[in-house]
Amino acid sequence: MTSRRRFLAALPVVALTVAACSSRHSAEEIRQSAGPLPRPQTPEDAIKVLADGNARFAGGTPQIRDTADIEIIWSSGIDQKQEPFATVLGCADSRLAPEIIFDQFVGDIFVVREAGNIAASPTNLGSLEYGQAVLKSKVLVVLGHSDCGAVNAAYKDSAPGANIQSIIDVIRQGIVGATSLEDAIVRNVRAVKDGIRRDSTLLREAEQAGDVTIVGAYYDIKTASVRFL
Ligand SMILES: [Zn+2]
Repeated sequence: MTSRRRFLAALPVVALTVAACSSRHSAEEIRQSAGPLPRPQTPEDAIKVLADGNARFAGGTPQIRDTADIEIIWSSGIDQKQEPFATVLGCADSRLAPEIIFDQFVGDIFVVREAGNIAASPTNLGSLEYGQAVLKSKVLVVLGHSDCGAVNAAYKDSAPGANIQSIIDVIRQGIVGATSLEDAIVRNVRAVKDGIRRDSTLLREAEQAGDVTIVGAYYDIKTASVRFL
């Protein structure tokens, strides 16, 4: 039984049946009922919150957030500002929704997505920089995943043409020597991390100052588990 379920079980039945009235529980109460507040203050804590969230998701016990919860939290100030504790650069793959696989909520993660989880353009890097410099997220996760079509195309030296080719060309540079698709995916994550540090002075210096950690991760679609690299 999740902590949130325990919380709800302890509520009078009447409280559950008048969801729209002004005596509804506050956003903080709902957050606390669902587990520790996801507002880590250090990069290490931020990674732990993500790892714990993924463990819940992979274990089939994600925090349950229903529409009523969303409505309450949405009206509690989140429409005025955002304070995501993590930035995630993920592949565009439809199976890789970061909020879901890390079991986080609206407002918790600043997400930048592109096929192959690459950051090869100033605009893409600019989004990642915004996540740290303005939003003050504590960790930047470069999130690769199993069965990645973009990396697989580069690994197999496919030439899809059109603008898709530009993605393959970037990935190919970072996976030289890969011995398997999984190896290529991990190499691509590491190459993207290195590229961010090389091409973004802002993020490189923020990491050196201890304000953010740039970390790679691999999501296994079959097991639903994230492995930090
Ligand atoms: Zn992918």
